[in-house]
Amino acid sequence: MSTPENIHTTFDSILQREDKESLLNQKGLVVWMTGLSGSGKTTIAAAVEKLLAEEGILTQVLDGDNIRSGINNNLGFSEEDRKENIRRIAEVSKLFVDCGIVTLNCFVSPTKDIRQQAKDILGDDMLEVFVNTPFEECEKRDVKGLYAKARAGQIKNFTGLDAPFEAPENPFLDVKTVGRSIDECAQQIFDAVLPLIRK
Ligand code: ADP
Repeated sequence: MSTPENIHTTFDSILQREDKESLLNQKGLVVWMTGLSGSGKTTIAAAVEKLLAEEGILTQVLDGDNIRSGINNNLGFSEEDRKENIRRIAEVSKLFVDCGIVTLNCFVSPTKDIRQQAKDILGDDMLEVFVNTPFEECEKRDVKGLYAKARAGQIKNFTGLDAPFEAPENPFLDVKTVGRSIDECAQQIFDAVLPLIRK
C-alpha cells in the first residue's frame, strides 16, 4: 500500500522545472495567441517557432489541429465544452512549461472569461498576445472558407458574427497584421519574448 511518505519520496526524486530549464538553457513560457479565425495566429506562430529554433529554443505549437483532433476530440462548441477545451489546453501547456519548453498557443479564446481561466492555471507563465486583425480583413482572407459558410448560416455561433469576440484590454503584445508582413509580426513577438526565454 502506498503511503504519503513514499509518494513524497517519488516527487523528491524527479527532476524539477529548474533542472530541465538548465538542461535546455531556456525558460518555459506560454505565448497565448488570441484573435479571430483567420487573424494569423497559426501562421505567425510557425514563423516565431522558426526564429526561436534558429536560437536553439525548443518550442511546441498547440492549435486546433493537434488539440481538437487528439486530447479534446470528445469536445464540441457548447459553452461547457469550450471551457473544458481551454482548461485542458492550459493544463497541457503547464506540463510543457514544467519541462522548460516554450509553447505557442493558437486559439481564438474569444472571451475575457476564457482567457482568465487559462491565466488562473498558468499564472505569470502565460503571455497574452493579441493577433489584432479586424473582422472585415479576416472575412476578406477567409482562408478556410468559414466566413462564407457562417454568412450563409451554415455555421452557428461563429466568433465575430453571431458570437462575441472580446479583445484583450491589456495584452502583453498587440500584434496588428493589416499592412504588415508575416515576418514583421513574427519578429515583433520574437523580440519581446526572447529576453524572457533566455536564462
Ligand atoms: P488563424 O490561425 O488565426 O485562424 P491562419 O494563420 O490560419 O489564422 O490564417 C491567417 C491567414 O492570413 C494566412 O493565410 C496568412 O497568409 C494571411 N496573412 C496575411 N497577412 C498576414 C500577417 N501579417 N500575419 C499573419 N497572417 C497573415
